[in-house]
Amino acid sequence: MITTGDIAQVRAIRWADPSLSWGLVPTMGYLHDGHLSLVRQARAENDRVAVTIFVNPTQFAPTEDLSTYPRDLERDLALLAAGGVDLVFTPDNTTMYPPGFQTKVTVEQVSRPLEGLSRPAHFQGVTTVVAKLFNIVQPTRAYFGQKDAQQTVVIRRLAADLNFNLEIIVGPTIREADGLAMSSRNVRLSPEQRAVATVLYRALHTAVSALRAGEHDSETLRALMRDTVAAEPLARLDYVSVAHLHTLAELDRVESGALFSLAVFFGNVRLIDNIVVEAA
Ligand code: AMP
Repeated sequence: MITTGDIAQVRAIRWADPSLSWGLVPTMGYLHDGHLSLVRQARAENDRVAVTIFVNPTQFAPTEDLSTYPRDLERDLALLAAGGVDLVFTPDNTTMYPPGFQTKVTVEQVSRPLEGLSRPAHFQGVTTVVAKLFNIVQPTRAYFGQKDAQQTVVIRRLAADLNFNLEIIVGPTIREADGLAMSSRNVRLSPEQRAVATVLYRALHTAVSALRAGEHDSETLRALMRDTVAAEPLARLDYVSVAHLHTLAELDRVESGALFSLAVFFGNVRLIDNIVVEAA
């Protein structure tokens, strides 16, 4: 496994043998089994696997947790080496954003609702850095987790609109045994917060169960999620959503597929989760 922060070296390795397919897994590090499941899938579907570890400052608002975002590069590299990764790109901020940098990539509509309402500049930071990573690594396939549902929609749009010559693959959300979606941020929860953080998954399940039982009114389904979160004193709801799978617009009624999602604060730790329902 080669680890480098150098763009020219990444390109030289990637193109040493153009007949080989490459899978790319972009991450912000502090790896868990959610990331590693994407690595395993990339390993199975490509000749070579590249992982990027870059805590991208431009996708954090000044009020957010950039400075406290967990980092452990040594541990990450050991996990990736054990996972059969060929190349790890670990650029520093100046490599990605040298003096004079001024280009931003914006995916318009689908970046706006949900996370976009709570984190207005977030997706512009994500799409700019992901476009750069796509250009640097030029993978055959790029892997993203369903855990960040809106991100997968935004990135599919980015890849299609800018004609990136690669395939976007979305892997399932990997969860702890009690249902909490794995996240690098989970480590920042206190033991008390960690114990009740299952409320995201419980809220989603309450709404999906109600849908299965015949409740198709989205506002009733949203209210069920809100009430579930409100019952946990340590949890503060940011938003709940029942949205169209592709446009991400809020639905009045769930008549076919829908994305159920929510964001919840525990102190200053903000967690998100979602469930896709393919048919009502
Ligand atoms: P991050 O390091 O949080 O930027 O995540 C890097 C990639 O891993 C993104 O595509 C995430 O959607 C994905 N990911 C994060 N957590 C999970 C999870 N619990 N299950 C599956 N994929 C995940």
